[in-house]
Amino acid sequence: MQKRPRHFASDNYAGICPEAWASLEQANQGHVPGYGDDPWTAKAADLLRETFEMECEVFFVFNGTAANSLSLASTGQSYHSILCHETAHVESDECGAPEFFSNGMKVLLLKGENGKIDPSGIEPVVKKRSDIHYPKPRAVSVTQATELGTVYSVPDLKDIWAKTKQLGLKLHMDGARFANAVASLGCKPREITWEAGVDVLCFGGTKNGTAVGDAVVFFNRDLAEEFDYRCKQSGQLASKMRYLSAPWVGMLKDGAWLRRAGHANAMARLLHDELVQIEEIEIMFPSQANAVFARMPPWLVLALRQADWKFYTFIGQGGCRLMCAWDTTEDDVRQFIADIKRFLLEAPRDVEIGNVDHRKL
Ligand SMILES: *Cc1c(COP(=O)(O)O)cnc(C)c1O
Repeated sequence: MQKRPRHFASDNYAGICPEAWASLEQANQGHVPGYGDDPWTAKAADLLRETFEMECEVFFVFNGTAANSLSLASTGQSYHSILCHETAHVESDECGAPEFFSNGMKVLLLKGENGKIDPSGIEPVVKKRSDIHYPKPRAVSVTQATELGTVYSVPDLKDIWAKTKQLGLKLHMDGARFANAVASLGCKPREITWEAGVDVLCFGGTKNGTAVGDAVVFFNRDLAEEFDYRCKQSGQLASKMRYLSAPWVGMLKDGAWLRRAGHANAMARLLHDELVQIEEIEIMFPSQANAVFARMPPWLVLALRQADWKFYTFIGQGGCRLMCAWDTTEDDVRQFIADIKRFLLEAPRDVEIGNVDHRKL
C-alpha cells in the first residue's frame, strides 16, 4: 500500500466523487436498453442542455482523447488542418489520435503566453499559403482551462472567435477541465461556449469526479451529423451507455460539478498562496484553476518524492505541476507545505538527481 492517500500528480489520480457514485448505483438496477436509448442518457443530455441553456446535441464517449479526436474530425475533411497551442493536449498527449481519427488532418501549432493562444498568430498560419499543397486550415482548438493551469476569459475567447469568424474557421474547445474554468470565472457556461462562438465542446467528466465518460457537446448541430457513426466505428459507443451517462446526472442535477471544481480550485489557490511565500520557489504561471506550476530546486523535488509525494515534472527540470482534485484536502496542502519547509531547513542541498524519469517515481 502507498503511504499517502492523495497526491498532487493529477486530478485523474482521484476516485469517483459521491454524487457520481450515487447515480451510478441507482442506475445499476434492472434492464434498460443499450447503446444510449436509456432514461439515464436522455436525462444526462437534457441536463447538459439545461446547463448550457441551449438545444445542443450531446454524445458520451469513454475519454477525452476520443472526445477531442472525434469532434475535431467532425469539423472537416482529411485534407484539412486544425490549429492549437503548442502545449495543447491534442498536440502532445494524444499519440496522434486527432490525426488518426480524422484520417490525416494535420495539427498546426500556435504560440502564446501562459498556455493561451495569441489570437494575432492565427491569421499568419492560415494565410501562410493558399495553394493546394498546404493542409487547409479548418478549425482552432482552445483548451479551457489550459494545460498550464490558466483560464481564457470571456474577452480572450471573443478575440479568438473574431479571428475564426473572419477566417471561416470552426472553434473547438478541449474542456477536460471545463468545470474548473467555469468555477474560476464565475460565469455562466454559455458565456464561454456558444456565446463566444464555440462550435463544439469536449466536456470532461473524469477529472471533475466521474470514473469515465466525457461528453461531446455540439452547439453547432450541423457538425453532429452522423457523429454517432464516428463514435461506433472508433469503438466509442458504449453498449451499457447508462454507466457513462448516469454519473453526469449526479454531477449536474444539483450543481455538484461546479462545487467540486470550485473546491479543487480553492485548494490550488491555498497551495499557491503558501508556495508564493517561500523564497526558494518560483511560481511559473498564473494559477487560475486547479493547478499550480512551481519551479523548485531539483534536490527539493527529489526529497519530496522520497517522502512519497507524487507530482509531474514534465515541463523541464525543477518545473513541477501540482494538481488539485475534488477530494484534495486543506490538510494535504498543509502537510506538503510543512514537508517543503522542513526540507528547506534540514536537507542537504547537494543531492545528485541524475536522470530521473518522473513517471517512475
Ligand atoms: C486529461 C486531459 C484530456 C483527456 O485525456 P484522456 O486521458 O484521454 O481522458 C484532454 N485534454 C486535456 C487538456 C487534459 O488534461
